[in-house]
Amino acid sequence: MLGYLTLLIILAWSSLLGFYARDLRRCWREPVLRFPVVIFESDDWGAGPLDQAAALENLRAILASCKDRTGRSPVITLGIILAIADTKRIRDGGGAEYYSASLLERVYDPLREVIHAGGRQGVFALHLHGMEHYWPQALMQAAAKDTNIRDWLQSNGIPSTESLPSPLQSRWTDASVLPSRALDKEALRSAISDEANLFATCFNARPRVAVATTFVWTEEIETAWASEGIDVVITPGARNTCREATGKPGGVDKRMVNGELSNSGQLYLVRDVYFEPSLGHLPERLVHDAQRCSHLGRPCLVEMHRFNFIGPPEKCALNFRTLKAALEQLQRALPDMRFLTSLELADAMRTRMPEIIESKPAPRIRIWLRRIEQLRGFSKLSRLSGLAASLWLLGKALGG
Ligand SMILES: [Zn+2]
Repeated sequence: MLGYLTLLIILAWSSLLGFYARDLRRCWREPVLRFPVVIFESDDWGAGPLDQAAALENLRAILASCKDRTGRSPVITLGIILAIADTKRIRDGGGAEYYSASLLERVYDPLREVIHAGGRQGVFALHLHGMEHYWPQALMQAAAKDTNIRDWLQSNGIPSTESLPSPLQSRWTDASVLPSRALDKEALRSAISDEANLFATCFNARPRVAVATTFVWTEEIETAWASEGIDVVITPGARNTCREATGKPGGVDKRMVNGELSNSGQLYLVRDVYFEPSLGHLPERLVHDAQRCSHLGRPCLVEMHRFNFIGPPEKCALNFRTLKAALEQLQRALPDMRFLTSLELADAMRTRMPEIIESKPAPRIRIWLRRIEQLRGFSKLSRLSGLAASLWLLGKALGG
């Protein structure tokens, strides 16, 4: 009877471990950080409204006033947009042709200067977000049937891409129709080459990190990024390849964890914490999320868009105060927290840098046990089969 029961348990455990083998291996391979790492990631900066320069000055001052225990200030990575519709030229041309104005224009001198200054100071690091925050031909096609988009393209002054319909903010798919259509591969390659070159001209360095607008991109984009020297890709943990009929990002063809490599050899990082004060996110929420990441040996990459910090001054002032409060609370809650750039983190993962990445088996197993508990369905089934008790004992034996 006892032998029969033992056989049943062994069978149940091996089926469970076999079924989850891929996820269990992934949790093991994902690098384990030796201390909490928090990186703020802020997309959409660059060609666009001119009050961005003052906003970045404010952010620079807030970041510089905070230090981790090594004396380093927090970094905000800026997802850079290099061009936007030249609405005056489009209007003067009757709206039939698309013209753009780039970040190299004189009007953006103060903005580029503050970005450079923040880079020198170590509080800003730059990511390639795209030439425009949309695919211009898709926008023009949409404008032919939508007066709101036509008005946006011909508006007075420099428009904000945040006010475009969300599907059209995806650069790497043609969302002039839904579900969206794939773009021509040669056009993609040429566009990526152009934007990488313009990025280098603006900032005297080629981009190494890319983040697709609205997190919609494809395998072809990664290949083209690789040929331009992009070796790190920021992801939400999955690759959306299109906009669905509802307009939502969809067509997920890949999931990834931190430290995994793309087919083109790029290292993926996962940004899955959201701190958007404009949307009512409070410092307590960020602290909770950062503690959760740290508990799982993962970095806390925080999405915090520029829209929080441009526009009505009262709104911006409130959001700056919320960010400052969040930094203070993070320091109290995670005193051993460290600030890095995403690129530094990616390089540390790639080389398994011993100062940052855990290599000892016991702490790695402890973190692995915590990670696998989070796998959908695994926790419940392992409790039912009794496997959880054995894993718990293993964790205890390792000092967890
Ligand atoms: Zn964006």
